[in-house]
Parts: sequence; C-alpha cells; structure tokens
Amino acid sequence: MSAMLSIQGLWKSFAGFVATRDVSFELKAGETHAIIGPNGAGKTTFFNLITGHLKPDKGAVSFEGRTLIGMPPHKIVRLGIARSFQRINIYPRLSVFENVQVALIAHEGQQWNLLRVGRSLHRDATRDLLELVGLAAEASEIGGELSYGKQKQLELAIALASKPRLLLLDEPTAGMSPQETGETIALVRDIVKARGLTLLFTEHDMSVVFGMAERISVLHHGEIIASGEPDAVRNDPEVRRVYLGEQGHG
Ligand code: ADP
Ligand code: MG
Repeated sequence: MSAMLSIQGLWKSFAGFVATRDVSFELKAGETHAIIGPNGAGKTTFFNLITGHLKPDKGAVSFEGRTLIGMPPHKIVRLGIARSFQRINIYPRLSVFENVQVALIAHEGQQWNLLRVGRSLHRDATRDLLELVGLAAEASEIGGELSYGKQKQLELAIALASKPRLLLLDEPTAGMSPQETGETIALVRDIVKARGLTLLFTEHDMSVVFGMAERISVLHHGEIIASGEPDAVRNDPEVRRVYLGEQGHG
C-alpha cells in the first residue's frame, strides 16, 4: 500500500541550529502514529513543516501523491490535513457555537453569505460537530471561558470543520488533569474511528502513547532514531538509551 503522507530527506535549521535533520517518514492511510521525543527534539517543527507553517531548507513532503512543498497552510488544509496546536488556538471572545461556525464558513468559502444568512449558516453542521466533541451543552458559552479541557475539545471541533482525512494533534493532552487526559484520549479515539481518520500525534505522556499508537517514531535532536510498532520501539536499545531509559515510561 502506498503512503498517505511521504517525507524524504527533510531538513530545517534556525540560525544554524538544526531542528530537523534528514527526516524521512511514511504514514499509511488509517494508521494512528505517535511522534515522541524529549522537549526540543523537533516534534512541533516537524508538524510545522508538514502543514506549511514552516518551509523546509531541503527535502520532499507529499500527501496523497501531491507535493506540499511551497504550499501555504490554508491550501494544505484544503487538501485534507488539519491540526491542533500545542497552545490553545480558538477565538476566545466568540461563543463555542460561533467558533465552529466560523471554521465551517472559512472552509466552505462563503464569507459573503454570512451577512445574508447570519446565525443560521451551517447551523446543523455546527451542532453535529459540537455533539461529536461533547460540547453540545456549551454551545452558547464564550470560548475563552471554557475549562482548559473543553477549550481543547473546541479546538478539535474546529480542526474537524475542514473535513480532514489526516489529523495532526500536537500534545493534545498537554496541561490536562489525568481525568481530562483520559476523556480527551477516549474522544479522539472515537472520532478517529467514526470518521476513518489517519492520526499523527505528539504526546509526552507515555501511557497515552503506548496505549493508543499503532506505530511510533522517536525524534532525538531532530533526527528519527527509531520507527515501528510500539513493542519494537519500547525495546529498541538506542531509544532506551537516549530517551525512554533516562526518564522511564511507566
Ligand atoms: P518539540 O516540539 O519537540 O519540543 P520544537 O520543534 O518546538 O521541539 O523545537 C525544536 C528545536 O528548535 C528547539 O531547540 C527550539 O528551540 C528550536 N526552534 C523551534 N522553532 C524555532 C524558531 N522559530 N526559531 C528558532 N528556534 C526554533
Ligand atoms: Mg512541541
């Protein structure tokens, strides 16, 4: 089977500091794949290179056979790749409903309609998405006033508004309580399954990683040092030495 996302020889430096070093990577349609590695390993940079938020110095990135190099983020979203950010990225003053509605309008490209149809635009699709992420009851609350965990759920609804086939989640449970973490993971799993999504995620909580990922790639100083099924990665001597071994992963 050919890869949904295919990356070859990707490099990125910031003022001489190499953040992404000759990364080659393949993601198959339908798989759930975790990128792990210590803080500063280059996980977020890697995502930014895929989504067009950063331009690689060198290398190739293709999605479903089309090259993404040089494409701006909004075009990459249109091809079917959506992401969440490590930091909350919602409109804090808009209601929960409006946040999702605006995302749908942006994706459908119907700004001109907003003035005519106003609040009813994409009403059903907005409600469906809020239902899907468990925020139906909070539709009229202000986005910025939600709990942290619920803001992350809202971000997920916003990401899904672009009808992605590939979803990139950058530390989806960062800053969450154990209970929020469990709920978020269950939610992501359900959505990935229900929508048949391919999922690429970074995560610092190893119990989440090993409980969820079908494949894992380990970044270390910008380089992928191991990639494979969880058991193989867990037992990889280099991974143990540079990463798992030094901090444990109970
Ligand atoms: P991770 O997400 O794994 O914690 P990042 O991709 O955020 O790692 O960062 C990798 C390295 O690249 C870090 O040393 C970080 O300081 C550096 N870096 C990331 N973005 C920039 C930038 N825009 N300018 C300069 N250095 C950066
Ligand atoms: Mg990061």
